Order: sequence, then structure tokens, then C-alpha cells
Amino acid sequence: MRVIEPSFEVLDEYFKQGRILEQIERCGRVCYKSEDKISKESAVPFIRGIIKRGHESVIEMANLVLEVRASENRLYEDFFIHIPRFCQASKVEQGRFIISGNPRSFRDLARRFPKAPVICTIKKALETRFPVLFEDIKTEDCHTNEVEVRLLSAQEVDGFDLPLLVKHRCLLAHITVNRAVTHELVRHRVASYLQESQRYCRYGEKKFGGQVTFIRPCFFEEGSKEYQLWERAMKDTEAAYLELLKTTSPQAARTVLPNSCKTEIMVHATLEEWQHIFRLRASKAADPSMRQIMLMMLPEFVKRFPSVFESIAKSVEE
Ligand SMILES: Cc1cc2nc3c(=O)[nH]c(=O)nc-3n(C[C@H](O)[C@H](O)[C@H](O)COP(=O)(O)OP(=O)(O)OC[C@H]3O[C@@H](n4cnc5c(N)ncnc54)[C@H](O)[C@@H]3O)c2cc1C
Repeated sequence: MRVIEPSFEVLDEYFKQGRILEQIERCGRVCYKSEDKISKESAVPFIRGIIKRGHESVIEMANLVLEVRASENRLYEDFFIHIPRFCQASKVEQGRFIISGNPRSFRDLARRFPKAPVICTIKKALETRFPVLFEDIKTEDCHTNEVEVRLLSAQEVDGFDLPLLVKHRCLLAHITVNRAVTHELVRHRVASYLQESQRYCRYGEKKFGGQVTFIRPCFFEEGSKEYQLWERAMKDTEAAYLELLKTTSPQAARTVLPNSCKTEIMVHATLEEWQHIFRLRASKAADPSMRQIMLMMLPEFVKRFPSVFESIAKSVEE
């Protein structure tokens, strides 16, 4: 068995460089732990396969920020009346709006309301840039010069003032923690997640070192009576898991795996939702294992967006 510390990585270069498809693939491959299959050409076929299999939560792992020019009436009739639950919208000035969402949210709108000119124009703008994201959805003829849509660059988004920035800018984090922490993390609903699958990953295989990996519990000092007890329980559980794998599938064998099991999760959320997550999960009232990783992550978020996270970092220290 292997025992490791929790860790994280903020993956923001994909967004900054407009590499949306690569970002989606990188996140999707965490489920299968097949990152070794990433190549220069692999993103498009990977995404095509994901869409074909209906695993569309993978398509949530990117953020598209649009400038939409249309009259308020047009926008109300075509967009707001459908209550697009998974998009963000702000009015910047008369006739100019910022609308953001992940590719899945725009795919769903395009499927459900293909003739609404605002939605149809958004789809056309996005599919020109990223054909694979929309190639399975029929395009209706909705020609109108009443609506203009432009995909904004990361530099333009980062130039937003604070209220627009927290609402429309997302950050993606790759977090390695135990299964108890991810179970708590996914309760935050205004975010997208992808997690290493214990159904697909067979930890008895060579690529996992033929062993189960656990996260060192923050509660017990190494060498203490409690730590030794925990260690013995993990060894026993690993032995049972590997024995079960001889005659059964990973999804059956995993039923013996405990909360301490290491897992990887991709969390993609707006800065506003990250603020909420840090306020709750870095506070002294949070589960110590959750607080441990949140306090590790917070300085990195402050470094990237001081005006957004500095006051939270101060408040959780108090
Ligand atoms: C200290 C602590 C103890 C906890 N103990 C327990 C426990 O014992 N049992 C348990 O089950 N959970 C527990 N939780 C989890 C908690 O109940 C929430 O599920 C979790 O913190 C997600 O946060 P949230 O609901 O505030 O917001 P998120 O899901 O992160 O959503 C962000 C915001 O969006 C809005 N929102 C999202 N979804 C809806 C909706 N459907 N309707 C209306 N508004 C919405 C709200 O304004 C919300 O603040 C605990 C959390 C903490 C921090």
C-alpha cells in the first residue's frame, strides 16, 4: 500500500491559451486515469466518443464567455424565458450582454430551442470555433442581423471589473484527496466535477503499482497508537480488495475500500462559487481533512486573483 499527502494543481493555462478541447480531454481522462493517452490529436476523437456515449458531464469542464449584442426584448424572448439554469448573464449596457456557460449548457439550449435566434446565433459562433462540440446537433436556419455573438478571449475576461469577473471567470483545480473529502466537495452544486472512477480503475494493475493508495489522515500522528491502528485497517482492506479482484470486477471489489482511499477530482467553478466553497470549507467549522486542502489551495487562488480571495484568506485565519 502507498500513503500520500493531499495535493492540488490549478490548471488555468488551457483557458488562458484558448485550448478548450484539450482542457476537456485532460479532465475527462482523470475518470479513467488514462492521461498517458493524451497526444496532439487526441482531444477531438476523445470528445466525439464522450458525446456518443452520453457522458456529457465531461463537456462541462470548460467555460465559454460571450459578448452578445441584441435588444432586451430579443434576449428575453429567446434566452431568459427558457431560464437557462446553467448559464450566467449580465447586462453591460443597453443592448450589450455578457453570457457565459460551459459547452454542455449551450449544447442543451441548442438542442431544446434550435430556432430561437439568440441561441441559434450562439451555437453558430461556437461551432465555427469548436465544430466537434456541436456536430451532432442540427443547425436551424435562423438568419437574423438582430443578434451578434462574439467569443471573448481569456485576456478580455481577465480585464472585467470585479462583479463581472467573479460571475463569469472560472478556475479549474485538479485535487488529490481522500474519498470523504470529495464526497463533501461535490455537495457544492454550482460547479462541475469529474472524478477518478473506482469502477474503471483496477488498482491491482501495474500502472497503479499493483496497490491501493491512501491519503495520510491529518488526525493521527505517524507512529501513534491511532495511526498504527489506521495503518493496519488499510493493509487489511487492501488485501481484501486485491483478493476480490482475482475473481471479480473493480466495481465489485471496491465495495471494501474505505474513506481514506486516494482519489482525484477535477473541480471547475466560477470565482464566485470558489469564494463560497472557501468560506465554508476553509473555516474552522469544516472537516479538518477538507480544511487542510482548502488552506493549501487558498494562497494559490489569492496569488491569481487577490481582489477576489484576499479577504476570505484573512477571514478564515481569524
Ligand atoms: C460545517 C459544515 C457541516 C455540514 N454538515 C452536513 C451534514 O451534516 N449533512 C449534510 O447533508 N450536509 C452537510 N454539509 C453540507 C451542506 O449542507 C451543503 O450541502 C454544502 O456545504 C454545499 O453548500 P451550499 O448548499 O451552501 O451551496 P452550493 O451548493 O455550493 O451552492 C451555492 C449557492 O447557490 C445557491 N443554490 C444552489 N443550489 C440551490 C438550490 N437547489 N436551491 C436554492 N439555492 C441554491 C445557494 O445560494 C448556495 O449558497 C455541511 C457543510 C458544512 C460547511
